[in-house]
Amino acid sequence: MLKPVSQQSLDTARGQWLIFSRDKLVVRQNQRQLPQGGFDDIDCLRAYHADVYELKDLQGDSLPQSTFIVDMGAEEPEGEHWELASLRHMLMQAPDTAFAVAGRAWQYVHFFRTHRYCGQCGDRTQRVDWEMAVQCQRCQHRSYPRVSPCIIVAVHDGERLLLARGVRHRELNMYSTLAGFVESGESLEQAVHREIFEEVGVSVTDLEYFGSQPWPFPHSLMVGYIARYAGGDIVPEEGEIDDAQWFWPDALPKTPPTLSIAGQLIAATVKKIQGK
Ligand SMILES: [Zn+2]
Repeated sequence: MLKPVSQQSLDTARGQWLIFSRDKLVVRQNQRQLPQGGFDDIDCLRAYHADVYELKDLQGDSLPQSTFIVDMGAEEPEGEHWELASLRHMLMQAPDTAFAVAGRAWQYVHFFRTHRYCGQCGDRTQRVDWEMAVQCQRCQHRSYPRVSPCIIVAVHDGERLLLARGVRHRELNMYSTLAGFVESGESLEQAVHREIFEEVGVSVTDLEYFGSQPWPFPHSLMVGYIARYAGGDIVPEEGEIDDAQWFWPDALPKTPPTLSIAGQLIAATVKKIQGK
């Protein structure tokens, strides 16, 4: 969760700084790393001394590396030696732990930005200080950070993998597993069958739970499955899937890195096919 840092403790606060400006991170010019040090070392924060939060773990304890968060909102840092780096880009380069920390921080920042007013009566909300929530003082409605479950599935037929190139990945020419949001009232398994049929027109069986990964763009929880092909011809969904094909494990196209659950699923399915 996030804990406000008092004026007093700001003098001694040292660690790494996650400073959000719009949907980007503030970094020192030509350094693709998070700023380190104390509040006074980071001159672009002068006006934000009352807006510093410390990121704690889910039990409320400090992280192994103290991590402070400032949300500049729509403002940009002043001064020549600061620049903005894409959150996605920074996360892709980060080791797993940094990815998890920055990803969680961004979800909290995004939550506060989008819950300044009560969804029920429209009054201003206030942050609850003992849990990650905002509450309306007028009607008592309380809101929590949103988590959107999303299934992600590697389909195989015992010999080959079914991978698809999404419309958004056309330029990168990257093929990946199939994925989609779980609808209200739907089970994870139902979502797997529906999404795969919608996206590529095939049916699957033998669903096997693989693992899950929070994905902070902006608040998904990816739930991974491996599924076996059961029937049907590949028909890519118009407007969503640019191309979908069967690939032999030794002739895979460009796929996502194993930092993402998509990359991990592909690696595990290749192993599964080759191990049999
Ligand atoms: Zn209200």
